[in-house]
Amino acid sequence: MSQQRGIDGQSGIDDPSGIDDHWLSSARRVVSPNANDRPAGEVSAVVLHGISLPPGKFGGDAIERLFTNTLDPAGHPAFATIASLRVSAHLLIRRDGECVQFVAFDRRAWHAGKSRWRDVDRAGKARWRQGLNDFTIGIELEGADETPYREAQYRVLADVLRALIQHYPAITTSRLTGHAHIAPLRKTDPGPAFDWAYLRRCLTESV
Ligand SMILES: [Zn+2]
Repeated sequence: MSQQRGIDGQSGIDDPSGIDDHWLSSARRVVSPNANDRPAGEVSAVVLHGISLPPGKFGGDAIERLFTNTLDPAGHPAFATIASLRVSAHLLIRRDGECVQFVAFDRRAWHAGKSRWRDVDRAGKARWRQGLNDFTIGIELEGADETPYREAQYRVLADVLRALIQHYPAITTSRLTGHAHIAPLRKTDPGPAFDWAYLRRCLTESV
């Protein structure tokens, strides 16, 4: 069914956020089998990650292969121990700003692992929660902990976050965290190179 949008006489069912049936229209789609149902259907926060494969090397298709269980364990010494992992994220933002989506946002991707977070609800009530895959969207930035992320990545990330906030009302700018924050003994990404203050400035800029 089409709806009148009233913009330049166009009509259509596209959500103005650019998210259609839980897929980002602007992203290249590479479907990962590493996903399942969210236990409570909740989509209320975002976890940022950094990844590069092999570590510290950018470009190539190894990240997409890891998330689709097609990484060759003999392809690089670093791949041998990770090729059998069953992991995914909803989105990958590459160094040039290209966005790839692997899992629909209403499904649970496998990016956070053992994790915990102090969740504060709209009434200001706090509680510790575990298993962040259940209710978060995972976004991987192609990068390394000590290497500055690119301007194009911050710009695309800010656009994506604005779209997610518009489409999923439970997500707010204060419900944005990093893998290192929710799994501090195991993980360091997106790392000290990620400029949280700059991301927040990008988010508050008028569009
Ligand atoms: Zn991570």
